[in-house]
Amino acid sequence: MSNERLLEGRLAVVTGGGRGIGAAIADRLAAAGARVAVLGRDRDELMKRARALTDEHGVEAKFMACDVADEDAVARAFDGIRRTMGDPHILVNNAGQSAGVAFTETTRETWDRMIAVNLTGTFLCTQQVLPAMLSAGAGRVINIASTAGLKGYSHTAAYCAAKHGVIGMTRSLAMETAKKGITVNAVCPGYTDTDMAASAIRTLVDAGRTEEDARKAITRVMPIGRLIRPEEVASAVLWLCSDDAASVTGQSIAVAGGEVM
Ligand code: NDP
Repeated sequence: MSNERLLEGRLAVVTGGGRGIGAAIADRLAAAGARVAVLGRDRDELMKRARALTDEHGVEAKFMACDVADEDAVARAFDGIRRTMGDPHILVNNAGQSAGVAFTETTRETWDRMIAVNLTGTFLCTQQVLPAMLSAGAGRVINIASTAGLKGYSHTAAYCAAKHGVIGMTRSLAMETAKKGITVNAVCPGYTDTDMAASAIRTLVDAGRTEEDARKAITRVMPIGRLIRPEEVASAVLWLCSDDAASVTGQSIAVAGGEVM
């Protein structure tokens, strides 16, 4: 697959596109010529990211500040995108949060937040783009789930439940849209070198481990022996956006160094 501007003229929305995996995805799609809108809560971070996308790749890039779990804010953000940039061809539901806590200590607030941000946010944003994709007979929806959507981990029941839900929604919507020119897939990263992995390491350090020991504990579960790079997740997303992947739908593709097979 040639990387050369293969998404020229397409409009991609990347939620949580201000930093981490989402920023790498936004960068990779812009490098392939896509116009990009990044969504998230931190307006300053998003503004810098959108500017960098235009400066580095010469594409139109905008940002919308919104909490993906807030239905009205999501509707306003997508209205803004449609008004100023047009109908999105690609949606990457990447915004997410994790919580490392024992089941018995999982509060209702933590449970609700995990479901709201990771699962309901994915549902709300997808509902915003699907009608236009159905009318156009074309579209790509890519949900950044997790290996936690494919297997269980201790101390992450709420996050795992939400990510399993994302994969269920992906499979179901893929069946509904299979004949309509739209593909719906999940990408499932293993531990990836971002703020989220840093916070998992911090939790282990707070529990008494050394930094080195905590990092080892996390990489030990990964046969590849290291954290995944955000750019590696972004490459899988770019391929799913390409015409080459037109018959790939309903899949959950692990980018996890062999952790799940
Ligand atoms: P980061 O914590 O680095 O970034 C999370 C992103 O999501 C930020 O841009 C953040 O922006 C945005 N976000 C969080 N909550 C909300 C919200 N309520 N509304 C809108 N945006 C929100 O995480 P990663 O980049 O590591 O994670 C990206 C995705 O990858 C997540 O879905 C995560 O579950 C998944 N993943 C990550 C793994 C890892 O090890 N890093 C492993 C497997 C999956 P802001 O704060 O501005 O809102």
